[in-house]
Amino acid sequence: MPKEPRILVVEDDIRIRRELLDALRSTGFEVDVAVSYRDALISSEREYALILLDLGLPDGDGLDLVRHLRGNGRGVPILILTARDTPDSRVRGLDAGADDYVVKPFHMPELVARVKSILRRSGRVVGQGMVQLDRLWIDAEARKAGKDEAEVTLKPREFDLLLFLMQHPGRTWTRDQLLDRVWGAGFTGDARTVDLHVRRLRAKIEDDSSDPRFIETVWGVGYRMAEPQQVR
Ligand code: CA
Repeated sequence: MPKEPRILVVEDDIRIRRELLDALRSTGFEVDVAVSYRDALISSEREYALILLDLGLPDGDGLDLVRHLRGNGRGVPILILTARDTPDSRVRGLDAGADDYVVKPFHMPELVARVKSILRRSGRVVGQGMVQLDRLWIDAEARKAGKDEAEVTLKPREFDLLLFLMQHPGRTWTRDQLLDRVWGAGFTGDARTVDLHVRRLRAKIEDDSSDPRFIETVWGVGYRMAEPQQVR
């Protein structure tokens, strides 16, 4: 029998921790808990399929754990639980290297769905060839993209951006992350460059670019390629 994915829950609030444990265990995950920053630092030495991380810990900031793990080259998926409900704090969480965030108070079924979605994504091997998402397709080698039967003509950077977003459906990226990953660390443009390219891409791939269904705006945070089942 294959082993169930093991998740580390970092949460100091006993009530929330208990709810998380119940929900995740009844979904079939194995769960370990850490109740403080120090505890989490030690526990995170182990291999986990995912870390659910509260930011406000009695002895430290969860974001420091994200930076610590990423700084040590640890790619374990991290889902942040935050009461800091400002777009700016979400941007900081993603920029620090978290994969996603959920704002407290959260709806438990939604949180479990996010966990499953992240695990699905992290298990997916992205090839260099063809990516198909709903009606969109892109061929990395031939550098061609299109919707349904029709090919769409893209400029090189538009192509790179679309390819990157399509390789990570459902994941939200900040503008800085996109500049870094698509344009490269040496690029000196600013966030508006990303907005401009997203606008151009939408004009080419969306049915109605004023009501985008593929490249979604995550308000105050950045952009996300809709997951196939979410494309309406
Ligand atoms: Ca807390």
